[in-house]
Amino acid sequence: MNEQALKAKAIIENYSGPELRIMEVCGTHTHEIFRMGIRSILPENVNLISGPGCPVCVTPVGFIDEALMLALEKNVTICTFGDLVRVPGSETSLAGARSQGARVQVVYSPLDAYELARDNPDEQVCFLAVGFETTTPAACIAVDKARENGVDNFTLLTANKTMVNAYRALKGSADAFLYPGHVNAITGTSACEKLAEEGIYGVVAGFTASELLTAIAVTITRLTEGKPFFENCYPRVVTREGSVKGMRLMEKVMEPCDAEWRGLGVIPDSGLRLNDEYRNFDARFRFDIPEIRGKGNPACRCGDVLQGKCRPSDCPLFGKVCTPQHAVGSCMVSNEGTCSAYYQYDFILQQARQQAAQK
Ligand code: SF4
Repeated sequence: MNEQALKAKAIIENYSGPELRIMEVCGTHTHEIFRMGIRSILPENVNLISGPGCPVCVTPVGFIDEALMLALEKNVTICTFGDLVRVPGSETSLAGARSQGARVQVVYSPLDAYELARDNPDEQVCFLAVGFETTTPAACIAVDKARENGVDNFTLLTANKTMVNAYRALKGSADAFLYPGHVNAITGTSACEKLAEEGIYGVVAGFTASELLTAIAVTITRLTEGKPFFENCYPRVVTREGSVKGMRLMEKVMEPCDAEWRGLGVIPDSGLRLNDEYRNFDARFRFDIPEIRGKGNPACRCGDVLQGKCRPSDCPLFGKVCTPQHAVGSCMVSNEGTCSAYYQYDFILQQARQQAAQK
């Protein structure tokens, strides 16, 4: 551990003020904090809450139902990242649809889906565009290429989201946010500076142990000072202006829209959809998909988990009916999901300890 990390660790361990609630918004942060054992050094009065920063987790059930309709009723080949295949829709998942004969293909980038469409002109190919500002530019590149090269059998089903208005919707859920460094690498920091003026505080955090410890220590210190704050603790990657190229690309291809977040409902201006120039590449428009209200398992508490209102272990299904092998909700399916993190790093460990104690 370097000197900076040791100093940060000491600040965290020695904190003895009133209870602080810090929300790590990013699913990767949730997993890294567990993996590095950072939770074990937190004093009781520092409460780390996991938030809605996993794109698969916040995607509503209705989106899966739309993808199922495309695959099963409209004869469209669905291309997606792996996690989404196992997320349950109202009746089944994309994996279930595949066993019914639907074409569902796992890809590693939107460009793979574009190339599949280009090489199979008689097949309709749709990429499930799920993600935050980090991954949206790649989907924009794919659809821009399709338009430029006349690959008309390629579409996107969009569930792209932007973070700033989600922070506003979550105001009051925590005393401060650990902002996801990879999102700020694209968006820059000016929006977060403005949030601080609105009473929403936070620190941009990187992903190494030293960066995470520093971000948590700075958050504790600044909250203790009791003044409005925003701080960029990931300056080796995040600049004030962010990725100008990435932002321009998103502005060229997409436009803001209201978006439904699992657990948080519809947040105004928190999503992105294809703009008028690219409308023909929008799967909802091309295949006349109606608005679908999905129905999740009523016992699943993903919505509360995503808002930091409960821990996964408060869900009656956690570790019993719902496991990574048989996931009931999106937070257990996704590699970045909070339930999956608690299962991998906390539940399994506790089970092993109990078994060892019984021997
Ligand atoms: S443990 Fe499973 S069912 Fe419970 S909230 Fe998490 S994903 Fe949903």
